[in-house]
Amino acid sequence: MPETDSAAVRMEQSSDAEAKEMSAVSDPYIREQLEKRRKELSAALAAPVAAAPAASLIELLGEVDSALHRMDDGTYGICSQCHDSVEKDRLLADPLVRLCLDHLTSDEQRALERDLELAARVQRGLLPRTDLRHGDWRVHYQYKPAGMVSGDYCDLIPPSAEDGELVFLLGDVAGKGVAASLLMTHLHAMFRSLAGVGLTLDKLLEVANSVFCQSTIAGQYATLICGRAGQRGEIEIGSAGHLAALLIAKDGVRQVCSTGVPLGMFSTSRYTVQRVRMERGDSLLLYTDGISEAVNASGTEYGAARLSNVAGERHGWVPQELAAACMKDVQNYSSGRKQADDQTLMVVHRADTVELSLND
Ligand SMILES: [Zn+2]
Repeated sequence: MPETDSAAVRMEQSSDAEAKEMSAVSDPYIREQLEKRRKELSAALAAPVAAAPAASLIELLGEVDSALHRMDDGTYGICSQCHDSVEKDRLLADPLVRLCLDHLTSDEQRALERDLELAARVQRGLLPRTDLRHGDWRVHYQYKPAGMVSGDYCDLIPPSAEDGELVFLLGDVAGKGVAASLLMTHLHAMFRSLAGVGLTLDKLLEVANSVFCQSTIAGQYATLICGRAGQRGEIEIGSAGHLAALLIAKDGVRQVCSTGVPLGMFSTSRYTVQRVRMERGDSLLLYTDGISEAVNASGTEYGAARLSNVAGERHGWVPQELAAACMKDVQNYSSGRKQADDQTLMVVHRADTVELSLND
């Protein structure tokens, strides 16, 4: 089959999938949200309080009713200026939105920018410190959103006790923009709560998946890789459909992966855990697909193999320098192209020698 045909088929399939996703989200979920808002507004209007805010409440109630009418007559989610679709993540964030991004008034655009800046600040506030030391372990990560907010998830949870295990997490929420960043904050809160409960790693993923399923919107999911680093170089890794981690050892690079479907797809998913031992000087590299799928001027993807080569030549490097070298290679490769997806890279390194503390 000529390539143009298959490309056309792919296009059609993806727009089909998009249409399905849209209707799955718009109908039951947004309707429920609108009905909830109508109930709240009606209750607020019925409350015997000062009359001052009533006018704006009545106006809001009118907008909610109008949105429900548009849902009934099939015009919901269509820009009232250009009759194109309004962006899905914006409808999810505010079901009353009536204009696509291209047709916002300048006041609305400024308000949106302010909201995004605030969301970006909140998100940056959730990130762990970029450098962490625990026992022999040295961890460093680089986090580069494509836009103001990111759908990549990255966290480091040190143990409460000195001899406990360090938990490291890296994930990627499907989609981009505000909706993805909201799910990212949700993952953050969930793992922070679950990490201290004392679950085994497979159970931790299982419970997280189940909670995530109950609280996400249809069609929203996240891939994630989660690990625990112990006292003597042992590492446990579980993956929910995420790209395999790369173990940079003295004798070469190997992939560390485990099977498991992304979080948020099926509430009964089970996860398996792989155990590896890292020697001193070894590093474990985790990354999101914004790295491996970065494209060069001719549209070819960077790929995991190239990342593996770049990292493999740098065994023993401290994590800051290893991460910087990898990121630099990705940037050189895709120079001149706009960064299309969020990029995150984490290095978990077992230090070469035990550093003496001042007391020794
Ligand atoms: Zn429009």
